[in-house]
Amino acid sequence: MTMTTTPVLQKVDLQIANKTCRFCGAGLERTFVDLGMSPLCETYPSVAELNQGEVYYPLHVYVCDRCWLVQLEEYESAENIFSDYAYFASYSDSWLKHCEKYCTDMAARFALGKGSFVAEVASNDGYLLQYFVRMGIPVLGIEPAANVAKAAIEKGVPTLVRFFGTKLAKEMAAEGRCADLVAGNNVLAQVPDLNDFVEGLSILLKPDGVLTLEFPHLLRLIEQNEFDTIYHEHFSYFSLISTIKIMEAHGLRVFDVDELKSHGGSLRVYACRASSRKHMTEPAVQKVIGDEVAAKLDRTEGYNDFAGQVKETKLALVDFLLTAAREGKRVAGYGAPGKSATLLHYCGIGKDLIEYTVDRSLYKQGRYLPGTRIPIFHPDRIQQTKPDYVVILPWNLKDEIMKQLAFIREWGGRFVVPIPKVAVY
Ligand SMILES: [Zn+2]
Repeated sequence: MTMTTTPVLQKVDLQIANKTCRFCGAGLERTFVDLGMSPLCETYPSVAELNQGEVYYPLHVYVCDRCWLVQLEEYESAENIFSDYAYFASYSDSWLKHCEKYCTDMAARFALGKGSFVAEVASNDGYLLQYFVRMGIPVLGIEPAANVAKAAIEKGVPTLVRFFGTKLAKEMAAEGRCADLVAGNNVLAQVPDLNDFVEGLSILLKPDGVLTLEFPHLLRLIEQNEFDTIYHEHFSYFSLISTIKIMEAHGLRVFDVDELKSHGGSLRVYACRASSRKHMTEPAVQKVIGDEVAAKLDRTEGYNDFAGQVKETKLALVDFLLTAAREGKRVAGYGAPGKSATLLHYCGIGKDLIEYTVDRSLYKQGRYLPGTRIPIFHPDRIQQTKPDYVVILPWNLKDEIMKQLAFIREWGGRFVVPIPKVAVY
């Protein structure tokens, strides 16, 4: 018996010993928050899949004591998650407005025109590049999910179905296809091999080219208690402090940063090659670093209270829903975003507390939320069933959604926003 059990134990020990930082390789020992087990959040079971099981993975988040990168271990290969990705970026109106403004701003600030070249990694369905195309600026999208890339090509956005990294960047550089502007929106968090990806971005830039990256800001995640933005598809969570370390390691200099409202508070980081003299470092960089230092994100103290804060949110939300259930109120959800999987699993909320949800995405309608199997319907269902409460799962779009659904007031319906803490409107 000893012969068979010993090697198994050794294997487990090795796995623990091998937990290392995705960026700097230091050992990971400090827990940021442990959200328990959760299924992959972008796999929506269909009716035919209802009697099959789903795989759950731990959502245990660590913070690296050396570089302050907050991170999840990778449990599923990126190919598995992203090859038939359900997220079509074009569905939100406010997001599209944000993207159009980005394109006009970048074209003006960096004097982009017909002779320029703009590349975007994880270009999704062409939601962003379409605005550069309208301005006559040559573009290339790089998108690994074939079904999503197809939608981009159909709307006239040239798109390469590939994973991005140094291999593809070197091929493009060898063909003389380096870019004046490289955009990466909400992709950095989803990259398992962070160093290969950022090195690739550096290779893809022209000598004075500009890289912009948008990602949720760790400072806001902590302040606003946005724990549901932690899910398996997001491997890393960035402060500006950790981002600068990563950029510098790959020969890039961060010269400006915008603080954005999108996704509950994001950063747009502007970087260029460290050798470029064209772009002056703007005061905003020092300002954001100052905010992060004030929140102690450059030392362990800044990371210690988050887990307790998250637990408090769970207790308040579950309290509210249990009371509503006892009073016989009908509760529906709105939206089926990836983040709802984390919220619902961590809080232990199922169909008994939220009857159904609705979503504008045709892909999701008629399917079920992962794990909880809460059914997803067309938004008309709300008008038909007249629930007492509508829980807004994509709380970052709450203003837009409350406007669209203002009609629930006719029957006394009210909105529930779960994050940063339960609020009823
Ligand atoms: Zn590290």
